Amino acid sequence: MKFALLIPTICSFFLISIGTHAQTPKDFSAVWEKQHISNIFPSNVRYKDLQKYLEDLKKIGLKVEEVGKSYGNLEIYQVEWGTGRTRILMWSQMHGDEPTATSSLLDMFAFLQKNRDKDWVKKLQKTLTIRAVPMLNPDGTELFGRRNLQSIDINRDARALETPEGRLLKKLRDDWSPDIGFNLHNQGSLTTVGNTPQQATISLLAVSGNAEGNSNDGHTRNKRICAVMIAALNQFIKGHIGRYDDSYNPRAFGDMISAWGTPVILIETGAFHGKDEMFLVKLNFIAFLSALHSITDESEKKANPNIYDTLPFNDSGNLYNFILRRANIINFAETTESFTADISINAERRRANENAPTFIQEIGDLSIYAGLEEFDVSDFFLIPKTGLLKVGASGEILFYKKGRKIDWKDANLTEKFPPDAHFSNGKWLKPLPK
Ligand SMILES: [Zn+2]
Repeated sequence: MKFALLIPTICSFFLISIGTHAQTPKDFSAVWEKQHISNIFPSNVRYKDLQKYLEDLKKIGLKVEEVGKSYGNLEIYQVEWGTGRTRILMWSQMHGDEPTATSSLLDMFAFLQKNRDKDWVKKLQKTLTIRAVPMLNPDGTELFGRRNLQSIDINRDARALETPEGRLLKKLRDDWSPDIGFNLHNQGSLTTVGNTPQQATISLLAVSGNAEGNSNDGHTRNKRICAVMIAALNQFIKGHIGRYDDSYNPRAFGDMISAWGTPVILIETGAFHGKDEMFLVKLNFIAFLSALHSITDESEKKANPNIYDTLPFNDSGNLYNFILRRANIINFAETTESFTADISINAERRRANENAPTFIQEIGDLSIYAGLEEFDVSDFFLIPKTGLLKVGASGEILFYKKGRKIDWKDANLTEKFPPDAHFSNGKWLKPLPK
């Protein structure tokens, strides 16, 4: 039954899109490539960079105002565009180390302002009023940490309201009663789509805002808007879209803002192996414009919420940054005997311009897991620099081709017997010989 309904809906949506010469996701992608103003990897964007971007938006006529201050006394800004009756509130970087959507919002506003002579943008301007707070947590951004300067997770402060940032977000909602909220975050790069090795590059959640998960009109509309975004993003990252865990949390802003009367869509940006952060900025830009456009031309009304409902949930623990397969490990501090095991290594989240520390995550039979990068090292003896390979250690490993005559007990092992390869902190200082 579900599938019988699905197909005609997709078809009619597609036909309508063609019939009205609507902007397609591919158009949004192409226009972002040409016109985006963000020119720093989002994780490297500091508060001062945000201020520069906002100055640029002001210069082209956008309304940018200071709406509050962080605990550390940094100004928090809101950008506004459009004059329509449908009110959209978007906020990003409530968690300081979750930066992608901040850049996407800036690109979106610059694009809308510069293209307001185009018919479809004119219609957007007349139909919608969009307000956005890019970087709700500037103190956390400066520290590249999740929390604010009080060390409180703002997204667990919706009820207690002990943070100035949380109080500001509530006030911005309560003073304006927006029709839709977009809560913009990042998730871990190893989050997967269900129990698969596919990275969840974007995950969505239409927040119900009640413990029972009951739907109302706004929630169902948001599921349809999610379906529109899924259809758009499928053209770029098919198989890499997940559904975020929908368990209700009365301390979280997504749930409470929905409960207060503004149904929220959560967008979580993960990663896509082999693509850089700007690709993720573009995906958000495409998702935002697809969503806003579908509200304006009412094509969202024809979208099928089942497309959202049947999205696999996010999962974790299926994927590692690196797996070294069939390693012959010699813990020379203990013994010169080798044993065979797989080794997985993960990297922590850091700014793009910083080295991400890595840690050995597992040692043993990892045949049921996948690595973003995998290496068959069965032809080598692996020697941990410390003499004993341990879960939690940094994973600095020397490789010696099997068959080489090595005295593992030599006090100057590495000098006397230079290794054939050297892996350290997620990088091959000396690559594996072919
Ligand atoms: Zn977050």
